[in-house]
Amino acid sequence: MTTAEPAMAASLGGSSWPSAKTRLAGVIGHPVGHSLSPRLHQTAYRALGLDWAYLAFDVEPPAVEAAIQGARALGAVGLSVTMPHKESAARLATRRSTVVRRLGAANTLTFSGSQIAADNTDGTGLLADLRLEASFEPQGRRCAVIGAGGAARAVILALAEAGASEVLVVNRTRVRAFQAVALVPGRARVARREELETADLIVNATPASRPASSAGAGEAAERAAPAGAAGAAEAAEPAAAAAPSREDFVDSSRFGSGQLVVDLVYDPPITEWLARAAANGARVRGGLGMLVYQAALQIELWTGSRPPLTEMWRAVGRPVARPT
Ligand code: NAP
Repeated sequence: MTTAEPAMAASLGGSSWPSAKTRLAGVIGHPVGHSLSPRLHQTAYRALGLDWAYLAFDVEPPAVEAAIQGARALGAVGLSVTMPHKESAARLATRRSTVVRRLGAANTLTFSGSQIAADNTDGTGLLADLRLEASFEPQGRRCAVIGAGGAARAVILALAEAGASEVLVVNRTRVRAFQAVALVPGRARVARREELETADLIVNATPASRPASSAGAGEAAERAAPAGAAGAAEAAEPAAAAAPSREDFVDSSRFGSGQLVVDLVYDPPITEWLARAAANGARVRGGLGMLVYQAALQIELWTGSRPPLTEMWRAVGRPVARPT
């Protein structure tokens, strides 16, 4: 019995928990052992007084269809989906939101009878974090994204749909940058690195800022499926892999005042890469906010209730900007 269980039992009037009425939700991924989603969701259900349980399921790629159909058959409320299953989730759904159709990837499945509805709250999660936590409205602003994988594509689409005047995309492999900007024709373009210095917002959507020490295990477990061809997702690097080479990565000390710099990496909450931008006068934000808000949007979708953000932030520890 975990310490959470007596608290849950007490909050449900002293009955034993879980009971035959407890509803199930969860996250599927591979690996998923370091996911913060159970902590975020279970905290929220408890704050909302819901007799729901949220579990993490490590599902190997060949078993993803059985896992999704099994959860549906068991009457689960829904599933969060993390790498490498986002493309499979989109494919296996019976209904897809517009964003899922455009990205070809889903991070949220909602079950209703035989129906499986797919949504993607990654991009809207980042937008919510920018607006609510950083007072940044993308409308009419020059935005830039470093990367062209699954997370970058979700962010590029969200920023373009939010009315950014343009979305500049810089990626190590240029051909993937061209594929990513094709998501929003006429609204995004492949840019040179120097152009990042004139953007209002710069989002690092690569793992290149991950420190070698953490190996990004927790954050890797939340990663979006790589973009592009189905199957690429299955080749994603394992969570315990060494930090990627930083040689030739964008130098964040070139960013400065008047710019908001976001790193989707959240382990640590403020990376060295962000700290260098902050030291030069830029405002900075780590990736925890996107994680919290993408979960909050799932909770709102599934429960119809306003997500308890204060409790959710407390559960993961709201980061404090490092002094520079
Ligand atoms: P992905 O699909 O594998 O894409 C990775 C991207 O990073 C590609 O564009 C790749 O470039 C680039 N890249 C990788 N290593 C690099 C290096 N050493 N130097 C320069 N570029 C490099 O991964 P993803 O799912 O999009 O995830 C990207 C990052 O976002 C990860 O750190 C992930 O944990 C984080 N993330 C955070 C959240 C959150 O809620 N905060 C959500 C999703 C993802 P190439 O095309 O050249 O290979």
